[in-house]
Amino acid sequence: MNAVLPGGTIGVLGGGQLGRMMALAARRMGYRIVVLDPSARCPTAQVADGVVVGTLDDREAAVHLAKQVDVITLDTEHVPADLLDELERHAPVRPGASVLRTIQDRQTQKQFLDRLGIPQARWAPVGSDIELAGALARFGGRGIVKHRRAGYDGKGQMRVEAQGQLAQVAQWLRDTPAVMEEVVPFAREISAILARGISGEVRMYPIAENVHRRHILHTTRAPATLSDTSWRQVHDIANSIAEALGAIGVMAVEMFELESGALLVNEIAPRTHNSGHFTWGACATSQFEQHVRAICGLRLGDPRPLSGAVMVNLIGDLWTHGVPPSWRTVLDRPEAHLHLYGKDGAAPGRKMGHVLLVDDDTDRALATAEELIAALTPVP
Ligand code: ADP
Ligand code: MG
Repeated sequence: MNAVLPGGTIGVLGGGQLGRMMALAARRMGYRIVVLDPSARCPTAQVADGVVVGTLDDREAAVHLAKQVDVITLDTEHVPADLLDELERHAPVRPGASVLRTIQDRQTQKQFLDRLGIPQARWAPVGSDIELAGALARFGGRGIVKHRRAGYDGKGQMRVEAQGQLAQVAQWLRDTPAVMEEVVPFAREISAILARGISGEVRMYPIAENVHRRHILHTTRAPATLSDTSWRQVHDIANSIAEALGAIGVMAVEMFELESGALLVNEIAPRTHNSGHFTWGACATSQFEQHVRAICGLRLGDPRPLSGAVMVNLIGDLWTHGVPPSWRTVLDRPEAHLHLYGKDGAAPGRKMGHVLLVDDDTDRALATAEELIAALTPVP
C-alpha cells in the first residue's frame, strides 16, 4: 500500500477539537484537510482547506468528501459503521469500519473484551425491567446504566443506588438499548495512549493518570504514578487490545486501578484522546502527528516524553454568559500553554479548551492547575 505523502488530502469525519488539533499537525506537515461537519464554522473547519457541510450520517455528503481525499479518518467514533463500509470503496478509512463496529456499541465492545479475557467491571445488557432489576441485585444494589451508543463526557449515563430508582431509569431509557455496569471503587483512573501503524508496529506514550469531575475529564498527569508491575500490565493489556482490533491510528484505553493494584478496562476509544493532549508539548511526537503518520501509512514517530506534564480542561462553566474568563491569568505563567478550540457556544460541561503545564514536578503542576481553575472560575 502506497503511503499518503505531504501534498495529499486527509478527510476528517466530524469537526471537533480532536480533528482541529490533528489538522493543525497535518497542515504543518504539508497535508491538505477536508472536514465533514454540520457546521461550516466548527473547530476543525476553521483550520481546514475545505469543508463539506452535513451530518455524520449524511451519506451523500460523506461520499462527496470521500471522492476528494486520499485517506479518511474520524474525530468521533459515532459515525455509522455501514456508511464507513461504503466510504472504504472510495478511500481507505483508518481506523476501519470493522474497528468502529466493535467499539461504537458498548455491548459489542464489552463482548470483545470478554472474548479476549481482558478484565473489566461486571456488566449486563438491560433491555427490560426484569433485566434491570436482576442486574442491580447482582451488582450489590449499585450500578451505572449506560446507553449502548453515542455517549461521551458522561452523557447517556445514569447512576442507580436503589431498586426504588428503577422505574425512573426505565422511563429515562424508554427503549434505548443499554447496559448496566457495577460501580467500580477505583483508587485511580489511568489511560494508555498508543498508536498502531500500517505495518503493525505499536508505540506507546507514557501512561496518563486522570481525574474526572461529574464524569468529565478534569486533569491528566503524565507520567502516572504507577508501580512497575502495573506499568507492565497496562502495556500488556493495551497492546493486546491494539493487536486484536487491528486498528490503524492512535487509540486510547481507559482503565480503573483498584486499591489492590488490579486493573479493569473501562472503555476503548479508537482515536486521539483528551487524556493524550499532554503529548502535544511534552512528547517528541504529539498524538496528532502520530495519528497522521499512522493513517498515512508512514513509520510512527518517537513517543518519548521530553518532560512531565499536567493537562487541565477548560469547560464552558468558566464562561459567564458567553464571555470567556481573562486568559492573562494563564498566559502570565511561563510553564502554561493555552489551547482554545474556537467553539461558539460555551455551555456548562462543554469542552472549550485546555491548559498544558509542562513541568517535571507534576505534583506542583497539579497544584498550579487547580490554582488556575479557581482563578478562572466566575464568582457567583
Ligand atoms: P464516557 O464515554 O462518557 O467517557 P465512561 O464510561 O468513560 O463514559 O464514563 C465516564 C466516567 O464516569 C469514567 O471516567 C469514570 O470516572 C466514571 N465511571 C464510568 N463507569 C464507571 C463505573 N462502572 N464505576 C465507577 N465509575 C465509573
Ligand atoms: Mg470515558
